[in-house]
Parts: sequence; C-alpha cells; structure tokens
Amino acid sequence: MKSKLSKDEWKKKLTKEQYKVLREKGTEPAFTGKYWNHHEKGIYKCAACGAPLFSSDKKFDSGTGWPSFDQPIDNTNVEERVDTSHGMIRNEVLCSNCGSHLGHVFDDGPKTTGCRYCINSISLDFQQM
Ligand code: FE
Repeated sequence: MKSKLSKDEWKKKLTKEQYKVLREKGTEPAFTGKYWNHHEKGIYKCAACGAPLFSSDKKFDSGTGWPSFDQPIDNTNVEERVDTSHGMIRNEVLCSNCGSHLGHVFDDGPKTTGCRYCINSISLDFQQM
C-alpha cells in the first residue's frame, strides 16, 4: 500500500458519505450512485487517492444499480480479499494504492473474463478521455 493516511486525515479528505464506503466498507444503495447509468468514455479513478482503476471500455450494464466492469485497468491496481461479513462469502475489491474499499467481485460476469466487478459509484471519480 503506497498511500497511507491516518483516520483523521481520511476524515478530512473525504466527505462523510465517501468515508463510510471507502474507509468503513459501506455500500451505497443500488440505483442511487452517479455512475451505474453512466456511459461516457473515460477512466474511473479511486475517489480517495486518484489511482486509475477502471475504464469505460470494460463497463457493462449489470442491472444491479452499481457500476460494473469485467476487469480493472490493470490487475495490480486493485486488491482482492475474502470478505465473510453479512453472512456471505464474497471477494472484496480494494484500491491497491490506498487500501480503500471499492466494492466486490463476482464470477457471473457476461463478458470475456466472466468477472463482475460491482463497484460503488462513490468510490470512483470519473475522468473523461
Ligand atoms: Fe485509492
């Protein structure tokens, strides 16, 4: 992990809503985020540290109400960790640069990789290309 901030520094840097998802592993309600129905061309960066995470090329409409991608820009830009919270076994996705929570990855993706990266909009910051 390259970008390390203290709890207080993160609280200062992020909004309350961002902090809840990025640093406390919260989940934004489905169909409420700014990117689930977003179709511009560009890249989605980590909202906490700015690392490039996902590209619009790999985005697909999963119908879940969260922005969904079949792969990250680079596998080394995200980290996966087994998450057993809420009575489920899921694979959590984190930004490998700053360790912030992004969402989860499932193996039911429709595209070539078979992966569905289900990511909170609030964890992302879109940059048009
Ligand atoms: Fe980050």
